[in-house]
Amino acid sequence: MRESCGVFGVYAPGEDVARLTFFALFALQHRGQESAGIATTDGGRLQVYANMGLVSQVFDEDSLSQLAGDIAIGHNRYSTRGSSRLTNVQPIVVGRGSNSLALAHNGNIINAEHLHEELTNQGYTFRTSTDSEVIANLILSSPEKDWVDKIRYAMRRLQGAYSLTILTNHALFGVRGPLGVRPLCLGTIDGGWVIASESCALDHIGANFTREIEPGEVVSITENGVDSYREEIDQKAICIFEYIYFARPDSVINGRLLYSTRLAMGAGLAQEHPVEADLVMGVPDSATAAGIGYSRASDVPLGEGLLKNRYVGRTFIEPDQRIRDLGVKLKFNPLPQMLDGKRVVVIDDSIVRGTTTPKVVGLLRRAGAKEVHMRICAPPIRYPCFFGVDMATRWELIAAQKSVPEIRDFIGADSLGYLSIEGLIKAVALPREIFCTACFTGNYPIPVQLEMDKLALETKPAGRQ
Ligand code: SF4
Repeated sequence: MRESCGVFGVYAPGEDVARLTFFALFALQHRGQESAGIATTDGGRLQVYANMGLVSQVFDEDSLSQLAGDIAIGHNRYSTRGSSRLTNVQPIVVGRGSNSLALAHNGNIINAEHLHEELTNQGYTFRTSTDSEVIANLILSSPEKDWVDKIRYAMRRLQGAYSLTILTNHALFGVRGPLGVRPLCLGTIDGGWVIASESCALDHIGANFTREIEPGEVVSITENGVDSYREEIDQKAICIFEYIYFARPDSVINGRLLYSTRLAMGAGLAQEHPVEADLVMGVPDSATAAGIGYSRASDVPLGEGLLKNRYVGRTFIEPDQRIRDLGVKLKFNPLPQMLDGKRVVVIDDSIVRGTTTPKVVGLLRRAGAKEVHMRICAPPIRYPCFFGVDMATRWELIAAQKSVPEIRDFIGADSLGYLSIEGLIKAVALPREIFCTACFTGNYPIPVQLEMDKLALETKPAGRQ
């Protein structure tokens, strides 16, 4: 399962805004590893540099030094709509002269096809296959004069999930869609302002967290300071998976440090699915905190049974078949001395397709584990996500096809326990109605039937009803 992007923006006259953006994107690398880009303005024109690859692969001293200006936005991409290719990298720039903007988007627009057709009929041309370019052109197409009004016009037409940073020649904007699916926060840095997908990006560049940008809010930052405009919202649908997996544990969302939330998820699993065991471990890094929480709540000793190769991220070097066959061994190395003869409780964040978990269980058994008890911080994922997360189609989701005992047998574990929705909500410690939990329940915050029908037709294996 992959998240669909990290966005950042900085308004800081006199600072090296491109370099600040580079380091913020570095901190948001976990949200997207396909491409990275930065756009800046010196008040006269927008400049952009973007390419395929990790932040550290895309930028060097030379490219950063060409991005002069007082305002910048940046983007890390993992594609959910629009294929992974150079033309689809962000920030996207549209328009001309004073009527131009650069945009960085995290999320997924449900009615993008319809809007694309409408804008094409109005004479707008598209360079990419992304819904982000649809948003950018929709803003340009607005009959309003002022940028804030143009953005609010687009917000009234867009359906789906979006957190945006937008750059014009003289202003920076942060925009969070009315459902608030994807996070976005505001902070300050010496004499300036920053906007980021997650607060961890602020910490790394020495900025101070001010507050979260609210669902339906537009924050405008200009030489006159910061202004906020809010759309009326009917319902929030904050993605609960940000708490389980996507966001970094050192980020704060809705006033709660995610590390504490993940400790509580582990404690919830210990209460809901206790088991006699000698060792508890979290699959690094996303389930490390939950492993600690399980251990504390169960008195089963905590240990490390798998070490993660942290530098195994995306690479342009294609592995040959022999290396590909190594699978999870490329990522994890077991510690036989810790595992030999032990009954091990293994905490992981989620099971999506069920392709990785059997390999992890196999790795632990071959390293000597006597029993392997899997505990999962998320309830079973039975429905796909239409809001910016590349999970799988319904037919690929193992919990949509198999019962929990069948999944246990499939992954080769001695026992398997998922955290219940109630347990998850208790760990997050906020009212259930503000969250999207659609991938567990199928109750989407906005109608997605059209998309679902299309997806089913495209991917339903022959012979399945
Ligand atoms: S469907 Fe799941 S992953 Fe997608 S936004 Fe809702 S909670 Fe998040």
